[in-house]
Amino acid sequence: MIVDVQNDFCPGGALPVPEGDRVVPVINRLIDRFDVVVATRDWHPEKTVHFEKWPVHCVRNTPGAAFHPDLEVSKVDRIVSKGTGNKDDGYSAFETDELDLAAWLREQGVEEVYVTGLATEYCVKASALDAARAGFRTFVVTDAVRGIDVNPGDIDKAIEEMKKAGVKMISSEEIV
Ligand SMILES: [Zn+2]
Repeated sequence: MIVDVQNDFCPGGALPVPEGDRVVPVINRLIDRFDVVVATRDWHPEKTVHFEKWPVHCVRNTPGAAFHPDLEVSKVDRIVSKGTGNKDDGYSAFETDELDLAAWLREQGVEEVYVTGLATEYCVKASALDAARAGFRTFVVTDAVRGIDVNPGDIDKAIEEMKKAGVKMISSEEIV
């Protein structure tokens, strides 16, 4: 699962995650190792209460909402849009209105979910926690995620929270 590797979350974007673009080569190296690849995207309307909390970002069909140009999107089996309504939602891939993602993954025979992307303490965390809750063995690929750390320590706290929920941390090297 590739979470929100979009221009607005990369350096130069509207809501940049420091070193957000660094996850791209790591993800591209991993992509062929997996049978099913899902990429999520933050896909907001122009006006949403979500923007009372965050700078305007990832407005659908704008360049900022596009995937990072180097991400190998052609190898993605399913793109999942989230945050599409006028609500402060869309942190987790499983909150998408497009489909029942957990059911769809099970239909594909998926038992394990490996989460990569941006940002560690928001959408990555929410997606990993939901994946674990849905009964998937869930991993976060530590060198394929980056966080914001608005308050220093946020990333570490998120990792602890995920671990407590049974999410395992793994490096891309261990996978490859
Ligand atoms: Zn958003």
